Amino acid sequence: MIVQFGSCRIELVQGDITSQQVDAIVNAANSRLAGGGGVDGAIHRAAGPTLMEETRVKYPEGCPTGSAVATSAGRLAAKFVFHTVGPIWRGGVAGEADLLASAYHRCLELAVEHACRSIAFPAISTGVYGYPMDLAAERSLATVRKFLLEQQHPELVRFVLFDGGSFGAFARALEAMAE
Ligand code: ADP
Repeated sequence: MIVQFGSCRIELVQGDITSQQVDAIVNAANSRLAGGGGVDGAIHRAAGPTLMEETRVKYPEGCPTGSAVATSAGRLAAKFVFHTVGPIWRGGVAGEADLLASAYHRCLELAVEHACRSIAFPAISTGVYGYPMDLAAERSLATVRKFLLEQQHPELVRFVLFDGGSFGAFARALEAMAE
């Protein structure tokens, strides 16, 4: 599914983010950038050990929730990996929505700073961090849409949804937004 916003587009696909041919791939990391399971484990496995080495050297302090840092992409086809830290869901009363928006926003800023024309996001915070999928879809897409309409960059933002459930949630939210 593809929706155009000005000269940019948001695309939804179901699949594995590590196989995407884009300039930057976003990793849903933890604040220590210590590696983990889920999409983080998949990205580190596919990229190889240089990713963790570079992360340790460049960002020994880790990365705060709602922010993002950039590394090269090791063996991945992308040029960069942007490691961002989404919020842990605590019922919605702990600023989760703003922190989730901030994580996406910072990655998009990094994409512009690194002259990336395309970027792929996973559904940040919707795995072990427990953010409800429908709410995450709405907030994530609204944040990206606003950025694209304001900045007109990057050209392509692809959401790579791992299963049918997350793809469906994002497709419903994007359809509602395009109406
Ligand atoms: P978080 O800690 O931010 O919740 P997770 O890695 O646990 O991060 O999950 C984030 C989302 O990424 C989940 O919806 C999960 O199903 C999805 N995911 C897991 N592996 C991959 C992958 N290889 N490609 C794309 N999405 C993935």
